[in-house]
Amino acid sequence: MKWLLDNKNPCPFCGARQSLRLYSTCSISGDNFYLNRCLLCRAVFLSPTPTQQQLNQAYNDSYYGEGQEKFAACIEKVLDHFRRTRAARLAKYIKPPSKILDIGCGNGRFLGYLINQGFDGYGIELPGKAAQRAAQITGLNLEVGSLTTTNYNDNFFDGICMWHVFEHLTKPKETLHIIQKILKPGGYLMMSLPNIDSLQSRLFRGKWLHLDPPRHIFFLAPSDLISTLKDLGLKSINQKYFSLEQNPFGIQQSILNCLLRKRDVLFEALKGNNEYIKEYSRFNIVLQKIFYLSTYPVFVLLAGLEAALKKGGTIEFVFKKEKT
Ligand SMILES: [Zn+2]
Repeated sequence: MKWLLDNKNPCPFCGARQSLRLYSTCSISGDNFYLNRCLLCRAVFLSPTPTQQQLNQAYNDSYYGEGQEKFAACIEKVLDHFRRTRAARLAKYIKPPSKILDIGCGNGRFLGYLINQGFDGYGIELPGKAAQRAAQITGLNLEVGSLTTTNYNDNFFDGICMWHVFEHLTKPKETLHIIQKILKPGGYLMMSLPNIDSLQSRLFRGKWLHLDPPRHIFFLAPSDLISTLKDLGLKSINQKYFSLEQNPFGIQQSILNCLLRKRDVLFEALKGNNEYIKEYSRFNIVLQKIFYLSTYPVFVLLAGLEAALKKGGTIEFVFKKEKT
């Protein structure tokens, strides 16, 4: 395959203008993008850069779920289980009453579990439904906005989390520099993100669920993420390539994306985005749900295999700020 050189659209991670066009994708709004690989920093990114209007549309209320919560009550219960296990993983490294910042804290329930254990919980969330939900969590210090508009003291936090947030950032380098400053020496950064180097990404390319255009603006491969953070004095101390929450579904939804005209129909159905799925019959959606549930164990095994090869669809890494 002949790759095309693109010198018009800058890399959102490093700003370089020379990139290679890899493959194309289409957002849930029907906008077409290419995935380019930056020739300088190797980030894979959406080209052209999504416009503010495209991003505003992508983060409308249907993204956060139409109801009280993002998903239906039974799915939120399952997600609560994953939030609790995530909180338990953090508590292996950091003990209460430490200060924890969750960047992009969503409904704040992950922080809620930590606050109940005696942690001091801080959250940042963009204005909207998720921030309104987070504001209801008792004891949560919430900032509505983004990290670049906050003003935390240097060496303030014992732990900083970014769960599936990094790839959404329009100012990723600036965000990493702020994290490096406000994290205490010896403090931990925990982050999860889609793995552009995964088997499912390489197999499904533009149809891959976790591309999520236009919300996911850029992707760093695990090795590039580790070296980028090392340069900032943050050493990788743990890598997790398996996620029961994200990885089996990543394969399942991507298969459906190859079969259907529109992407992520089942995922949007689970969020209650009825407008998006209106061209699909109720029977069709039920069939997709049956496919999801009945084949789930098979895809758990496949996701386990991916993870064993260190090629899992999403990754969760822990970094420690070195003491200078
Ligand atoms: Zn770059």
